[in-house]
Amino acid sequence: MSMVRVDALYKSFGANQVLKGIDLRIQEGEVVSIIGRSGSGKSTLLRCLNQLELHDSGSIEINGKRLDGEAMSARQLSEHVGMIFQSFNLFPHRRVGENVMLAPMVVRGESREAVEPRARALLESVGLGEKFDAWPGQLSGGQQQRVAIARALAMAPKVLLCDEITSALDPELVGEVLRVLEKLAVDGMTLVLVTHEMRFAREVGSRVVFMHQGKIHEQGDAKRVLDDPQTPELKQFLASTR
Ligand code: ADP
Ligand code: MG
Repeated sequence: MSMVRVDALYKSFGANQVLKGIDLRIQEGEVVSIIGRSGSGKSTLLRCLNQLELHDSGSIEINGKRLDGEAMSARQLSEHVGMIFQSFNLFPHRRVGENVMLAPMVVRGESREAVEPRARALLESVGLGEKFDAWPGQLSGGQQQRVAIARALAMAPKVLLCDEITSALDPELVGEVLRVLEKLAVDGMTLVLVTHEMRFAREVGSRVVFMHQGKIHEQGDAKRVLDDPQTPELKQFLASTR
């Protein structure tokens, strides 16, 4: 069984057809990097996987559960898929620990006593064990993004979606976030990343998916796709990133 199964996915915004028949299978534990030009539909695909956008036609299954835009509650969805964004979106008026504990308490109705040890362990695992009581504004961008990762993991999703999560960071802070992702990958998390970090995609990722004009134009083993692109469009895209 695939962890993520997308069939013939279409999505338009008004007259703008953004996803034009996406078929995608992702196995448990795979690390899939989605690359492509700005406007090619990468974020829209991820947002459909998290139901932040509802697709027009086609189907999405995550962990064997069909997403159809209505049947699944926020609580059910959050057990299948978590998402992290370029802007960390932490709640600024809640301490770091509260940020991590909020969703399990509010969405899942768990008690503070049950959630707190898990939140502390998650912060520890992203290297921020001592920041439980800090305010988000006291942290660097890289630290805030690591809190956002811990917050997403607090719901124990089966798949983690990351949309350019290092793009807003100062260059010297990118590595600490990528290292957390790498650890998750090694631990067997299924990761789907929209990224410009080609070295990460090549070294940590198992597969690269190149999107072009709303379609998957080329995909395959990460090293093969990045080292030996087959289509002119991917060759051109890769040249533009060097
Ligand atoms: P990428 O992430 O690859 O840069 P996006 O998925 O963000 O691409 O955008 C693809 C296209 O969809 C763009 O033309 C963008 O303007 C359009 N688009 C994305 N989100 C919306 C929206 N909420 N409303 C209208 N158009 C959108
Ligand atoms: Mg995008």
